[in-house]
Amino acid sequence: MEIASVIVDVPTKQTDRVFDYIIPEQWGGVIQPGMRVIVPFGPRNIQGFVIGLKAESEIKKLREILEPMDLEPVLNKELLELGDWLTDHTLCFKIFAYQVMLPAALKAKYEKKVKLAADTAVTELPLQLQPFFEHEDMLDWEAALKNGIVPLLQKEAAKGQLEVIYLVKERVKKKQQKYVKPSMTLAELSKEIDRIPANAEKQRQILRFFIENYHEIELRKLVSEVKTSTSTVKALVEKKLLTEFEMEVYRNPFAHRTFERTKPLPLTDAQQTAIAPILDAIERNQHEVFLLYGVTGSGKTEIYLQSIQEVIEKGQEAIVLVPEISLTPQMVNRFKGRFGDLVAVLHSGLSAGEKYDEWRKIQRKEVKVAVGARSAIFAPFENIGIMIIDEEHETSYKQEEMPRYHARDVAIERALNYNCPVVLGSATPSLESFARAQKKVYHLLSLPNRMNNQSLPSVEIIDMREELREGNRSMFSRKLFEMLKDRIEKKQQSVLFLNKRGHSSFVMCRDCGYVMNCPNCDISLTYHRVNEHMKCHYCGYESYVPKHCPECNSEYIRYFGTGTQKVEEELGKILPEARVIRMDVDTTGKKGSHERLLTDFKDGKADILLGTQMIAKGLDFPNITLVGVLSADTMLHLPDFRASEKTFQLLTQVSGRAGRHQLPGEVIIQTYTPEHYSVVLAGKQDYDLFYQQEMLIRKTRQYPPFYYLSLITVSHEQLITVVSEMEKVVKHIRSHVSSGTVVLGPAASPIPRINNRYRYQCLIKYKREPNLIKILKTILDQYQKDTKSGLQVSIDVNPFILM
Ligand code: ADP
Ligand code: ZN
Ligand code: ZN
Repeated sequence: MEIASVIVDVPTKQTDRVFDYIIPEQWGGVIQPGMRVIVPFGPRNIQGFVIGLKAESEIKKLREILEPMDLEPVLNKELLELGDWLTDHTLCFKIFAYQVMLPAALKAKYEKKVKLAADTAVTELPLQLQPFFEHEDMLDWEAALKNGIVPLLQKEAAKGQLEVIYLVKERVKKKQQKYVKPSMTLAELSKEIDRIPANAEKQRQILRFFIENYHEIELRKLVSEVKTSTSTVKALVEKKLLTEFEMEVYRNPFAHRTFERTKPLPLTDAQQTAIAPILDAIERNQHEVFLLYGVTGSGKTEIYLQSIQEVIEKGQEAIVLVPEISLTPQMVNRFKGRFGDLVAVLHSGLSAGEKYDEWRKIQRKEVKVAVGARSAIFAPFENIGIMIIDEEHETSYKQEEMPRYHARDVAIERALNYNCPVVLGSATPSLESFARAQKKVYHLLSLPNRMNNQSLPSVEIIDMREELREGNRSMFSRKLFEMLKDRIEKKQQSVLFLNKRGHSSFVMCRDCGYVMNCPNCDISLTYHRVNEHMKCHYCGYESYVPKHCPECNSEYIRYFGTGTQKVEEELGKILPEARVIRMDVDTTGKKGSHERLLTDFKDGKADILLGTQMIAKGLDFPNITLVGVLSADTMLHLPDFRASEKTFQLLTQVSGRAGRHQLPGEVIIQTYTPEHYSVVLAGKQDYDLFYQQEMLIRKTRQYPPFYYLSLITVSHEQLITVVSEMEKVVKHIRSHVSSGTVVLGPAASPIPRINNRYRYQCLIKYKREPNLIKILKTILDQYQKDTKSGLQVSIDVNPFILM
């Protein structure tokens, strides 16, 4: 007897273990580790992953696997093992570790149905129910609800006439297309053509087409080329002259685009020095982590491309990670331009079906390069030669839900397995990475200059408090206004950048200062202009915008915060001649609109591009000579020890958008805190000094990279329960960790209540704590098993959000 060990799709503590199932005889030899299967679980049928096979089990009464969902494993051996590693290092349920590696299309969808019992005839049901089961012996649960017949169905189910079943469905199907081909030889076909009746001229034309083009053709194409109809083709299929069949095709999101092929550029001396150790590591199959530190425009991408070239020539594969917002068509073009069809692209702009198709190309080894956002790090290649993470400092590489992994850690773990190099690239490396490079844990490679030694743009910092003092209440300083005007006259382009992160539009009463808060969470509601709504981003609570202040009844209740739309309106007033393109979540929601707006700007259809951080990356147009940052400091005041680092990175990043080509560039940064070192040093584009200064602060405050962090958050509806349970947790941890470790808490979380649940946290800072994962696990075990208490515990190892 063959037995499969299965991880089931039920994410709870109790089910976070292996369940054994018998492999029925008919599936013997078919079902393998890494395949998805449908298994009975309690009263339901659900999806599971087979992670191993064995001959016997300690469990006596085993149930059988119902059927496989795959013909070949979707997770190879390496990825199955990586799942163990993810589970251990991020403390997640195993099922999440496997699901995160696969495209969403492979996640099961469950359909609840009511089915006629096997030995029951429709006529045995009450008259009222019969029509629902006349045509099919199954009824959708949704339809039952809609028709209000659930109580009736329940009665019949109790009698055993009906049963409730769960069907496991694929979310997305492989896309099939109809093809037609001749059923006989060319000679036979020529004979058959004479037998076609004279009045069937179209049929004859189709056969003539096949005599001239003796091969299969897509049905739709045939119909349009011969100018006929599908029914005419079908007639020939029925006469057995032609055969119709289906073939899998890929949804191609790039079908409408052609890629200009590019050749490797002769490298500059600096590039050659930087690439040599990478090529050497590839050559010798040696694992090493490189930190490629170079300003924007210094030629990092060309180094990626030529390293990948080497890997492909060796017969190996490459994974390239790019932050979601820089996965622009321009970025993709650079890889497709160099490697053509050998590139698969995975990003959230694709439909689930398109993403699945791109993933399939990787799985079938039809491509050699996977370019994508965070989760592309799980691309199912089996002979990886290099992994590249561009803009390695981006916080979006950390996933904020289970499994809470960092793509950099996963890359290094996989690279160890394949003995291949990892390249981390950035103009403003994360402090963690730069510190590791200083300690020679990573191999530092520098590209200090821009290509052709173009100068960096000149940056001017404007003190907005000064503007206010001199009577300028506008969101544009006088300097920025004049420069915008100047660029329009010179027919050059400007980019205006609004730092929206950590800055939402809220509603406040101008008379009494009342702010509309969410009744369930201790946080202000966000104003949404589209439907004049207030919404809570944590629990989803929605409300209308009040006409009068609920506190003092004043009618001067307004929304605050400078949204892009508001900036656009003001631009219209002060620079009516300016043509403005606005890019934000509202204008880029539709598929392809992001690309269209950028193309319009590139084609000179506007003078000013206005947007949020989504425009901070990847823009590389020759005519941009001015970049304006409207408010540099909105992020500085967040409760986040990385606030300065993020501000510095973002300001440096946007500044790099100006003057990348012949025309020199200028940057204006408006701020209310011009003396803050992250603003001053970003203005000077001085990463090294910023690094030194920030490291001093991290050291005294005991933050990374000097200490590691782990964050425990406990939530419950009763404040008293949260506090007392958190106290127990803190006590437990304190008694188990070494003396150098700092345990902070219990303390209320920066957002003390979400969705009517009070939140308390404990922050652990440590240098070396080999047993910490074990300690944290016992805490999780204890609380997750006890679901009745209503207590929720979450643990984030190396957190990026401390709220
Ligand atoms: P980064 O990735 O560091 O921002 P890129 O690789 O995009 O830099 O290079 C900036 C510009 O310089 C691009 O337009 C690129 O085509 C060009 N470039 C890069 N390397 C070379 C080279 N060796 N010779 C000529 N041009 C180059
Ligand atoms: Zn008021
Ligand atoms: Zn809320």
